[in-house]
Amino acid sequence: MRVLIVEDEPLIARALREGLEGDGYAVDHSSRGDDALWSATEIEYDAIILDVMLPGVSGYVVCRELRERGIETPIMMLTAKGGEFDQAEGLDTGADDYVTKPFSFIVLLARLRALIRRGPTARQARLVAGDLIIDPAERSCYRGDDQISLTPREFGLLLYLMHRMGEPVSKRDLISHVWSEDELDDSVVQVYVGYLRRKIDAPYDRQAIETVRGYGYRLAADGG
Ligand code: CA
Repeated sequence: MRVLIVEDEPLIARALREGLEGDGYAVDHSSRGDDALWSATEIEYDAIILDVMLPGVSGYVVCRELRERGIETPIMMLTAKGGEFDQAEGLDTGADDYVTKPFSFIVLLARLRALIRRGPTARQARLVAGDLIIDPAERSCYRGDDQISLTPREFGLLLYLMHRMGEPVSKRDLISHVWSEDELDDSVVQVYVGYLRRKIDAPYDRQAIETVRGYGYRLAADGG
């Protein structure tokens, strides 16, 4: 079992690492939110222990972004007692559990085991726009009864558009959520939207992905 610890306080990070390694876990550590986002997207962890207050981006943002990318790794959030953390907000971003600092390591470990046992949940329901359906847990896409094969990038792009269906989404937003490389040129979005349209729209004579001129795209809530 491989666990990612995201914690900027060295003493807590070290205690967690030693405790988890002692219990037989493989452990990676990240002290920044943005690094954690990268690691958790590239590497498949069995669980993530995520502090809320982090340099880079906050634990909330890390959690929400991972869920938006369709990554369903169980997440346990760590928060300071009486701090800024609001449980409802934490769970709303897609966290599975939370533990308040200072915590008992035995309690944390028990809850971590329970989280890993449950595994990635089907929390993220299928997204439906008319007869266009995307299932983040299965990473599958359907138009009516047809299953459509998408590359990971095409899938990520469609997933993000479907999360925000009915809303105009800027090309910049798409680049930062789907590619996470802000310096990429807008034209890459256009190219990938073209690929997607050839798979989910053109063969069915539909227009699920609408162009919003000078801005970006909108996924029609009725599937086009
Ligand atoms: Ca912190």
